Amino acid sequence: MASGGGNNRNGTHRNSLKGTTTTSTATDKPLSVNSNPSKPAFKNKSSPLTGASSGLRKSSPGSLGGGAAKDDAGVPGRVRVAVRLRPRNAEESVADADFADCVELQPELKRLKLRKNNWDTDTYEFDEVLTEFASQKRVYEVVAKPVVEGVLDGYNGTIMAYGQTGTGKTYTLGRLGEEDTANRGIMVRAMEDILAEVSPEIDSVLVSYLQLYMESLQDLLGPTNDNISIVEEPKSGDVSLPGATLVEIRDQQSFLELLRLGEAHRHAANTKLNTESSRSHALLMVHVKRTVKGREPAHSSDNGNSTSMARSLRPPLVRKGKLVVVDLAGSERIDKSGSDGHTREEAKSINLSLSALGKCINALAENSAHVPVRDSKLTRLLRDSFGGTARTSLVITVGPSPRHRGETASTIMFGQRAMKVENMLKLKEEFDYKSLARRLDIQLDKLIMEHERKQKAFEVEIERITAEAQNRISEAERNYADAVEKERLKYQKDYMESIKKLEEKWMMNQQNQGNERKEQMVHIAEEVAEVKKLLSKETSLRKAAEEEVDNLKSQLAQLKMSEALANSEILKLRKMVEDEVCQKEKLEGEISMLQSQLLHLSFEADETRKRLDRGGPGKVPGGLDSPVSQVRSQLKGSGNGEKASVAKLFEQVGLQKILSLLEAEDADVRIHAVKVVANLAAEETNQQKIVEAGGLKSLLMLLGSSEDETIHRVAAGAIANLAMNEKNQELIMSQGGISLLSTTASHAKDPQTLRMVAGAIANLCGNDKLQTKLRGEGGIKALLEIVKCGHPDVLAQVARGIANFAKCESRASTQGSKTGRSLLIEDGALPWIVQNANSDASPIRRHTELALCHLAQHEVNAKDMISEGALWELVRISQDCPREDIRTLAHRTLASSPDFIAGLKRLRIDY
Ligand code: ADP
Ligand code: MG
Repeated sequence: MASGGGNNRNGTHRNSLKGTTTTSTATDKPLSVNSNPSKPAFKNKSSPLTGASSGLRKSSPGSLGGGAAKDDAGVPGRVRVAVRLRPRNAEESVADADFADCVELQPELKRLKLRKNNWDTDTYEFDEVLTEFASQKRVYEVVAKPVVEGVLDGYNGTIMAYGQTGTGKTYTLGRLGEEDTANRGIMVRAMEDILAEVSPEIDSVLVSYLQLYMESLQDLLGPTNDNISIVEEPKSGDVSLPGATLVEIRDQQSFLELLRLGEAHRHAANTKLNTESSRSHALLMVHVKRTVKGREPAHSSDNGNSTSMARSLRPPLVRKGKLVVVDLAGSERIDKSGSDGHTREEAKSINLSLSALGKCINALAENSAHVPVRDSKLTRLLRDSFGGTARTSLVITVGPSPRHRGETASTIMFGQRAMKVENMLKLKEEFDYKSLARRLDIQLDKLIMEHERKQKAFEVEIERITAEAQNRISEAERNYADAVEKERLKYQKDYMESIKKLEEKWMMNQQNQGNERKEQMVHIAEEVAEVKKLLSKETSLRKAAEEEVDNLKSQLAQLKMSEALANSEILKLRKMVEDEVCQKEKLEGEISMLQSQLLHLSFEADETRKRLDRGGPGKVPGGLDSPVSQVRSQLKGSGNGEKASVAKLFEQVGLQKILSLLEAEDADVRIHAVKVVANLAAEETNQQKIVEAGGLKSLLMLLGSSEDETIHRVAAGAIANLAMNEKNQELIMSQGGISLLSTTASHAKDPQTLRMVAGAIANLCGNDKLQTKLRGEGGIKALLEIVKCGHPDVLAQVARGIANFAKCESRASTQGSKTGRSLLIEDGALPWIVQNANSDASPIRRHTELALCHLAQHEVNAKDMISEGALWELVRISQDCPREDIRTLAHRTLASSPDFIAGLKRLRIDY
């Protein structure tokens, strides 16, 4: 409420209200300030409240913003006043049943007629006339909505209800409409509109709720705060309540709760103070702060070349509208108030604010020089609402009852005066430096974070590079170390080599120095000799001492003599024992000698007996194939007695002993021994024992070492007997048997010796495994040498050997383990075979025929056989051979071999 103190603004304001000449006052002038119904000032046809609203809306934001920039004084805006009639309540319906209402409304004319008496009425015109049927919605739209919109646009606004208690002030302003939303009052609807308009992110809605009672301002949201002081800013004239609770409202529900809470606190406070709400004023203050989006501030001097930096540094433009909703205490006359129990003074105090408000409005309406704003807290609080910069809308509430006509008339007059109050609406627009600071703080925080992030990344990068460098360094160090190690090893090697060379050189030098040293040695030796001399001197001295000792010892020795004599006696006896042992051994040797002689003699006797049996010496037994069979026949021929005698001898003397006699000094003993061994070897049961005891080896040695042909003959016979066993054959071969036998043959004069040798080789020829070795060591050649002697017994053994060989070879060829020509042909045996194939001696013929048949089995031998004349022999064998199997074999061979068939053809043999 502007004071009448003559400041410029109020002056302007007052001027604008002065007289009826100015356009604005002409337009907005209250249409009726008098009670003359005949001359009502019905000039304004449009709704004063909505008209003002639309005017504000039209000018907003451009024209008002521009206006604010040009003229800080603002635009004129008269206080708008609406009258609302409460319907008759139940009590009135009964009590006033016979009376007419004291008011009559003409809403379309915006007029109210107040009945003076039965025949006279006063007519008043208001900005809006709301009948008892007006809905809460309509009341809101007409009375409050323009003010709320102004607040949203950055203007202060006041909505106030004035009237007698019970006429519907609270109904109009404060109904929550919980039971029926249609009943919602102005406060609730205003907040709905505000919340719908603001953006929660950038705008804010803060609410405080207060009660003024007996000049004490109480915080309804913080009831302990019961004496809030009013602070007026001298420069702007704005009032603020720093002690009041401010609650930020984000949704309607919390606002409703806040109102309920406030109402509850109001009720509690009134109970405590023993008063009632009709005696107190309720003030709801809503601070709406909105950030102006996308618009340069009205005060900006920016020429449009601003950079984005400049833009970001520009503080946001905010508009701060404050809506004040005032539910005034009941306006009933002071003199009536005594009835409620308060003293007159109390009543005065209670209504002080209200009467001060009336006085101020009167002063403003009358353009009085002094407006007593400071008389009460209410007028101080509402200084901006009346005569200030706010858009103010007043609703006066009246009841219909004629009983309260006086109060109704007084209310109407209050409204009429208020309509004359002219405000200067002013946009509350300013730069929001705080939020700029906040924004810059946030931006700074962001930049710091970004910087820290980059710093961190930089550090990480540095670390990475450092690590990489470290790796490279260590790798280089490793490489360096490797290279150094290699170099070191190389130098070490070189060093070792040079050391070695130096050592060699040194050795050589050493050798050279050796000679010099020898001379030195001689010198040293001389010195040593001298030293020795000294030593011997010393020694002789020592010896003298020792002699002394010896003397003493000899005495001791004499004592021991007797003991020694006894000892020598013992020694003598021992010697005698030894001599006895020697004698025994000699005797044993003689015994064995005698035994061997006995053996020989018995052998001789055997032989003599055999010769006698056979009818005389020198007769060669015919038809015997091998010495074995001969020996066997000898054994067969001899009586059991002789056989038993050899066996007995063998048992008595022992094989080992007999074999040892093979190496005896005496040649006769050797001969006797070899004969015994040969006899034993003829017996198959002894062969194994002889070989195991080394007999075979001794016999072979005997062949090589002895010159005696008898020994050769007997040993070869024994070997031939042992050669019947396959294992022994291998042993004979491995101990150079072939060469020993062939050497023996080459020196032999006795055909019996050759017969034994040939028999031994013939046995070896029958071993499949030894074929190649036997031939390699000259076995076949030896046989062909042996035939030169011409003795039929010898030739028979040779033929047996060749047949044996041919048989084994044929078997090997058939099995595929041998290829190529027969080794017999290779070694030149074929002519002899062909030559003897038709021998008169049947053993020779039989073996050679067999050999030829074996050779003929293999085509590879055919050409040689044909050229050597074997074909004739084969033809003969196939026809004349007494053995049928050989005959058939020869025949089949001739018939199947292409070479032989061709040969036969060529020789014109009809076969
Ligand atoms: P005040 O606040 O002025 O003392 P209230 O708002 O408490 O008056 O109203 C008094 C009584 O009248 C209440 O019961 C209320 O419901 C009723 N009332 C007031 N105005 C109206 C109206 N326009 N329509 C119906 N009932 C009303
Ligand atoms: Mg009330």
